Amino acid sequence: MQYISTRGGGEPLSYSETLLEGLARDGGLAVPAVMPRVDGETLERWRALTYPQLATEVLGLFATDIPREDLARMTAAAYSSFPAEVVPLRPIGDGLTLVGLSEGPTLAFKDMAMQFLGQVLEYALEREGRVLNVLGATSGDTGSAAEHALRGKERISVFMLSPRGRMSAFQRAQMFSLDDANIHNIAIDGVFDDCQNLVKELAGDLEFKRAQNLGAVNSINLARITAQVVYYFWAWLRQTDAGGATEVSFTVPSGNFGNILSGFYAKQMGLPIRRLVLATNENNVLDEFFRTGVYRPRSAAETLATSSPSMDISKASNLERFIFELVGRDAAGVVDAWRGLATEGSFDFSADQPRFEEEFGLVSGTSTHTDRIATIRAVHAGTGELIDPHTADGVKVAREHVEPGVPMLVLETAKPEKFAETIREALGLELEYSPELRAMLDAPQRVTEMADDAHALSSFIEAASLKGDTVRETPVGADRHDS
Ligand SMILES: *Cc1c(COP(=O)(O)O)cnc(C)c1O
Repeated sequence: MQYISTRGGGEPLSYSETLLEGLARDGGLAVPAVMPRVDGETLERWRALTYPQLATEVLGLFATDIPREDLARMTAAAYSSFPAEVVPLRPIGDGLTLVGLSEGPTLAFKDMAMQFLGQVLEYALEREGRVLNVLGATSGDTGSAAEHALRGKERISVFMLSPRGRMSAFQRAQMFSLDDANIHNIAIDGVFDDCQNLVKELAGDLEFKRAQNLGAVNSINLARITAQVVYYFWAWLRQTDAGGATEVSFTVPSGNFGNILSGFYAKQMGLPIRRLVLATNENNVLDEFFRTGVYRPRSAAETLATSSPSMDISKASNLERFIFELVGRDAAGVVDAWRGLATEGSFDFSADQPRFEEEFGLVSGTSTHTDRIATIRAVHAGTGELIDPHTADGVKVAREHVEPGVPMLVLETAKPEKFAETIREALGLELEYSPELRAMLDAPQRVTEMADDAHALSSFIEAASLKGDTVRETPVGADRHDS
């Protein structure tokens, strides 16, 4: 399987090559040259598989340059710290079922992809004789999932910027309690956007980037998208009975359009998905797009701080991959749309909007703080289940799109323990932490505080980054490796 750019430039790359490359060199995103297809017979055969076995089958369709036995070893390792089922399903009544994606080390769905990424990154670096210094900015969930997936890896160091004093106590503890030598937490005097601007400034200096072997593990990463495809197959296999090609619908609490894009890929691959329901919070730029066909990203200043903070996003970095399919995989159409975005601040697919639902099954809705609180209460009163604020946004929007006879699967993107304050507001109760979580919250913390200063940051990275003696002079992709 080869990967091409949504903007048509550059040569096709292998899975491993796109993994180390990040953005395609023309500024587009890597997409499969041909979407793999899965037929009904194969689906039935997959019913008997464990989660890691299923992951090997699904990822094997994408990572064709990695031998099966290596993939099997990596998927087994990636999900070894999860409960046996890895992704449990829990019905909550009214035709709704929660898909538990938050059983990993940081209690959020990002572990599902990040744990595999940690394995496959180390593998690809080993094979290429390279090292990688991951530079990122986080407001909470992504940084902790990345650090827990990459801790202790020999060929990887992590430099994670966060806005000083602006993360929750739980998020701080999850990151700052790690004492692995390859994890560098840096608290910046500023807000999240200041952190992100520092990352952009350093990564934009191509000479520095290359000299320091800098890279990213953000939500456009292809390994993350493909690892997320697996749980759509898993949930379908658990929800349906053998032999029936029953359709199910999914609702996905969304921000960067990463999670739901993986569901969209699963549907394109032939999984019987009826509707993909996109749920946003008050930052509803994506709901606006799917209802009107007009995409108008917002500025940081227009982005609200909500009680489902991991969805406080005003630009959806993966949307370009959907646009690529919408325009019939025509890179010129994507380039046109992005040119419009640069000059007008928006692009307009209102003429195509009816196709979003008819052809792709994509519909959407918005949930607000009031909805979130009411939904947490209603689910708790009805079932005794505690759900987190992001999942509550999903449940609220899912209810608006349930159809008789079609199971509605709502992705649980985080555990309530991460958002104790909102649970307290909704239910007036204090969450009990497990002994493991208690120990994490009480553990000593390790963080470097730094001014919002690119020079200070680059000196810090120069001093602490992994230096790959064995690093090749050419960037990956400049010459072909088909081992
Ligand atoms: C990241 C995140 C989301 C949004 O997922 P996208 O892939 O960015 O759409 C939703 N909920 C939680 C808890 C998250 O951490």
